[in-house]
Amino acid sequence: MHIVCLDLEGVLVPEIWIAFAQETGIAEFRRTTRDEPDYDKLMRYRLDLLKQHGLKLADIQKVIARLSPLPGAKDFLDTLRSRYQVIILSDTFYEFADPLMAQLGRPTLFCHKLLIDDAGHVADYRLRQPDQKRHAVNALKGLNFKVMAAGDSYNDTGMLSAADAGFLIHAPANVVAQFPQFPLHEDYASLLRSFDAAAAGFDD
Ligand SMILES: [Mg+2]
Repeated sequence: MHIVCLDLEGVLVPEIWIAFAQETGIAEFRRTTRDEPDYDKLMRYRLDLLKQHGLKLADIQKVIARLSPLPGAKDFLDTLRSRYQVIILSDTFYEFADPLMAQLGRPTLFCHKLLIDDAGHVADYRLRQPDQKRHAVNALKGLNFKVMAAGDSYNDTGMLSAADAGFLIHAPANVVAQFPQFPLHEDYASLLRSFDAAAAGFDD
């Protein structure tokens, strides 16, 4: 049984922070891992913005509760899970992801956590581990699994490099241009075909 590791935001669900930017009208929240490769820098920027505007975890959760997976994502994931074991490797936070994971049938999710102060403000964040996507893929390979992966952003490229087969889906032009070694897909059907073709080429 092979394992597929998938990114979450931009691949299966909308970008949470972009939805939050639209909802609050604060355009600065539009900055994502697609624009800023340094995740810590990006998160410090977001935490500062939340503080500046007096926004709490509950304000973000209210926006997330109204989001749905991208069209076709649930069917794609169900088909994928019937053929492979799937792990979602995301740089989101458990405090954000739950309503979306419920709509996706609760696949396994490895992500990070937020530190919330007594007043409900986001005080800080804790990475489960720096570069967790790459480490997770390498750990799975250490257990003798063949690992395939797909993502859309800079923060996925470590995972894609570590995997036995790595693919981009829904990726913006700057990421595609910098990482031409990862075949680009625009839809779930073609990504599924690439996973199946890669899996057929594995010798065990
Ligand atoms: Mg993403």
